[in-house]
Amino acid sequence: MAGSLWYATAAPGPVLGPLTASVRAEVAIIGAGYTGLSAALRLAEAGRDVVVLEALEVGERASGLNGGQVIPGVKHDPDILEEMFGPVAGSRLVDTVASGPDVVFDLIRKYEIACAATRTGWIQPATSPATLEVIAARVGQWRRRGADVELLSAAETARLIGSQRYLGAWIDRRGGTIQPLSYVRGLARAARGAGARIFSQSPATDLEETHSEWRIQTPQGSVVSAMVIIATDAYTDRLVDPLRRTLIPVPSFQVATEPICDELRQTILPEGQSASDTWHLLRYFRLDPTGRLVMGSRGTFADVPVAVAARHHYRAVREIFPQLEGIRYEYHWGGLVGMTRDHLPHLHEIAPGLLTGLGYNGRGVAMATVMGRILADWALGMPGPELAFPVTPLAPIPMHRFNQFGARMVIQGLRAMDGLARVRDRWSARSAPGLSL
Ligand SMILES: Cc1cc2nc3c(=O)[nH]c(=O)nc-3n(C[C@H](O)[C@H](O)[C@H](O)COP(=O)(O)OP(=O)(O)OC[C@H]3O[C@@H](n4cnc5c(N)ncnc54)[C@H](O)[C@@H]3O)c2cc1C
Repeated sequence: MAGSLWYATAAPGPVLGPLTASVRAEVAIIGAGYTGLSAALRLAEAGRDVVVLEALEVGERASGLNGGQVIPGVKHDPDILEEMFGPVAGSRLVDTVASGPDVVFDLIRKYEIACAATRTGWIQPATSPATLEVIAARVGQWRRRGADVELLSAAETARLIGSQRYLGAWIDRRGGTIQPLSYVRGLARAARGAGARIFSQSPATDLEETHSEWRIQTPQGSVVSAMVIIATDAYTDRLVDPLRRTLIPVPSFQVATEPICDELRQTILPEGQSASDTWHLLRYFRLDPTGRLVMGSRGTFADVPVAVAARHHYRAVREIFPQLEGIRYEYHWGGLVGMTRDHLPHLHEIAPGLLTGLGYNGRGVAMATVMGRILADWALGMPGPELAFPVTPLAPIPMHRFNQFGARMVIQGLRAMDGLARVRDRWSARSAPGLSL
């Protein structure tokens, strides 16, 4: 976190410490990111005795590192979701994913979480005529469902983004931005205020079922509980190995500039939206409250020097915002995104009393917050078929080890395709929804 803009500017979190005793709880949660803490908050509000175990500090993984873009929906468009899950479960799922930003901004308001929240919308600019068509269809689908979305002309896109690079865009006014680490720390504070016990520096090192209860071991203590929620997303380790094998963790990397001078700042994202474009290896960007440009894209895997990812990002800034030539970069950081094979988040019962929700495919600020509440509803006794998200069987990816190697190859391939398209400037392949990483 040391190089992270969010770490440098976040509101302080609650002072926590490790679990140093053997305790009991009605529900134990492993992982203190948005999923785990949103579940803890809802359960504690419902009067349940909840313990949260975090290996590091609150929000030290994806929830404190991400781009802070509050994006409605998942990678698939609403029509596709209804096709996949049928008219009843599918339309309930569409409502669920659409409600994400409302859930986030309502929690921020209710618990007075100071996290620089703005709700000015999220823009997806098109990089090719083909993706412009995809976007136009997406707008139609959301508009039919009453969402506040709009297709933007090339001129309006250039004005709202401050870049001539795009052919058009859509704006989804349900979206917005937050300071991600301040938000997750605020959730922790709210959950504690409602009665949840949260322990940091307490990795779950062993999990075993005994007499219809679960026993979780940490280095200095243990928790016994009838119900356990695993909320570890891309950082799922061998504690529940089949679950780890349902995800491919993919690195995402960000840079933040020095504050942009006033004159240029009036031209770059002047109305405060955030944006993620339609390249296969998409670029996502926004300003922070002091006018720094935060630019993110796929990173490099850990054994490749960070300098490579940084250079790739500087190039992206120059390409999209040539007016920022010469700007200094003050922060560099990255994290892991949990990708699934179907590009959808997953909700599973791994074993009786062992629940999980994960796999947000880079759209987890809103969706992980929502998923935490759904997990809490499940732990509170709501039957699986009535949940706001479909429960699916755990399906580890065959040959998982090789899939990770495959992911590297796919990323290199997509990067090469995007690069080629940029050079030739004539993009003809259709960028299907869900294919971007
Ligand atoms: C660089 C980056 C940029 C992103 N940008 C965006 C964005 O702009 N918008 C968006 O919607 N989404 C974005 N995402 C995705 C989003 O951040 C995640 O989907 C979301 O934060 C997942 O939340 P989570 O609580 O499920 O997981 P996490 O926040 O990763 O939390 C999991 C926690 O589990 C803990 N843990 C793991 N194993 C154990 C164990 N054995 N014992 C105890 N604790 C354990 C970890 O330490 C961690 O704190 C981005 C992700 C990254 C990495």
